[in-house]
Amino acid sequence: MSGGPDGDLRDGLSASEIFANSEGLTYNDFLLLPGFIDFTSEEVDLASPLTKKINIKAPLVSTPMDTVTEADMAIAMALCGGIGIIHHNCTPEYQTIEVHKVKKYKHGFIRDPVCMGPENTVADVIEAKKVNGFTGYPITENGTLGGRLIGIVTSRDVDFREGHPHLSLKEVMTPIDDMITAQSGVTLMDANYILEKSKKGKLPIINGAGELVALIARTDLKKARSYPNASKDSNKQLLVGAAIGTRDSDKERLKLLVHNGVDVIVLDSSQGNSMYQIEMIKFIKKTYPDIQVIGGNVVTRMQAKNLIDAGVDALRVGMGSGSICITQEVMACGCPQATAVHQVASYARKFNVPVIADGGIQSVGHIVKSLALGASSVMMGSLLAGTSEAPGEYFFSDGVRLKKYRGMGSLEAMENKEGKGSAMSRYFHKESDKHRVAQGVSGSIVDKGSVLRFLPYLQTGIQHSCQDIGAKSIATLQAMSYSGELRFMKRTHSAQLEGNVHGLFSYEKRLF
Ligand code: NAD
Ligand code: ATP
Ligand code: ATP
Ligand code: IMP
Repeated sequence: MSGGPDGDLRDGLSASEIFANSEGLTYNDFLLLPGFIDFTSEEVDLASPLTKKINIKAPLVSTPMDTVTEADMAIAMALCGGIGIIHHNCTPEYQTIEVHKVKKYKHGFIRDPVCMGPENTVADVIEAKKVNGFTGYPITENGTLGGRLIGIVTSRDVDFREGHPHLSLKEVMTPIDDMITAQSGVTLMDANYILEKSKKGKLPIINGAGELVALIARTDLKKARSYPNASKDSNKQLLVGAAIGTRDSDKERLKLLVHNGVDVIVLDSSQGNSMYQIEMIKFIKKTYPDIQVIGGNVVTRMQAKNLIDAGVDALRVGMGSGSICITQEVMACGCPQATAVHQVASYARKFNVPVIADGGIQSVGHIVKSLALGASSVMMGSLLAGTSEAPGEYFFSDGVRLKKYRGMGSLEAMENKEGKGSAMSRYFHKESDKHRVAQGVSGSIVDKGSVLRFLPYLQTGIQHSCQDIGAKSIATLQAMSYSGELRFMKRTHSAQLEGNVHGLFSYEKRLF
């Protein structure tokens, strides 16, 4: 482009030029200039490294916050090609069970079906329908999963029995001798075939001892999609991460997590450049060399250097940019996020250490900007909170359906009111620690539906954006950025107004 009869036709600035004067920029302070399109958006490859050794097919990570990532979210993230990091504002046992659920997840199988016992009644089923939304219950000897299967009750068995609420289930169930079951280890395809042939709505899966281990529902099979980009390990189990702290007690938590198959550990701190974290990184790399360790958070090259020297496999970048965050206000520490990502990523790439841009992601555009600045993936909180896979129940306020979303440094999270095991040990270690300083707020977020619909929107959006830029993959986008081919332009305040909807009396902003 440069030279020739037309001179240098490159408009805007290169990445290093736009950040040259060390002014702190956010994602909204600049735009990427469009390039040349010679491919379709579907061709854009979104594969990217999460850590030195783990590659994911979509650069999307769910944050370890107790209102964002437990097993359901982590399963959905991995199915869609990203990864979820299970939070640690709970007991080590609780966190380990969540990790275990992800590792044992098999698409289409209900691994923890609700069961009933023979002495339960028709009234119990009617009550349970109100809570669970379904009527089909396997009946086991002891009424729980793992007990010997003795029958099944479905809506057809309890319909018209409303007048006999005290009838026990053993009187209405289809008994085991008349039942179609499958042995554990059955594939989803075979299960599908059995259900099709038997024309039944439920297929209980039992082990050699006749104990119930899982259930398959025809309704799930009918809507089962395949997830060809799912993030999996060499055993074809979904990938999952877990967060821990840097206290000595976290070593016990770590041990449990590792023994239950966790793939990657995130050392969860707002300021990761500490002797505690450096010691923990070295401990993990020495004790569990196969576990990938993500250090952070960092926002400067100096911070990054210490963690890279200690042996991290990736860095989490962001201090004070989160939607629920008051760190910059209270601590006077932090860094505008675009600048943080640029300065850490341009340093870390020399050591082949991928960077995760954490916090402040509000849109597809922000994701693409962070990737263009050198991040290999983005970590999201508010974008994923409020989905049906996020922990917590929906509630209504002024007719709007909401879910809770809160900072992990909010007073409420520190007090851990949800009762998932005491988190006190995480926050208060000495009497002198009892004066709390909140770094986050607690709020709510509008119902967003299932993340299984939202993530494909994000992925398709990133592909369209990369197409506009002329980058056929994330790797190309970053190569273009570092070579200076990708051009950046600052946005004045009025440019930002122009770039948003303006001049309308009213409008509806539907994204997908
Ligand atoms: P932290 O565990 O890093 O720090 C809590 C306190 O414990 C700090 O004073 C730390 O120095 C101390 N500490 C840690 N290990 C220690 C050890 N081995 N011995 C003695 N003291 C030790 O957690 P945090 O930075 O307070 O963050 C809490 C949560 O809030 C995290 O989930 C974090 O991600 C989130 N947060 C994030 C941001 C952000 O901008 N990304 C900001 C604030 C909070
Ligand atoms: P209905 O009350 O309409 O008869 P049903 O019992 O036939 O409901 P399904 O339509 O088969 O229920 O399933 C609805 C959802 O509930 C599915 O996503 C399925 O995975 C889940 N589900 C069904 N039965 C159970 C169970 N016993 N334990 C856990 N989840 C279940
Ligand atoms: P529908 O789907 O028509 O709304 P339903 O949810 O009750 O009704 P099914 O789950 O197919 O439908 O149950 C129909 C009957 O078959 C019930 O009497 C139930 O106990 C029995 N049944 C369900 N699953 C099995 C199975 N795997 N083996 C044998 N019988 C079964
Ligand atoms: P969001 O995607 O903008 O909502 O930001 C999520 C990120 O905010 C998380 O991944 C954390 O790095 C950060 N964070 C979580 N809890 C707190 C907090 O209490 N204070 C400040 N930052 C937080």
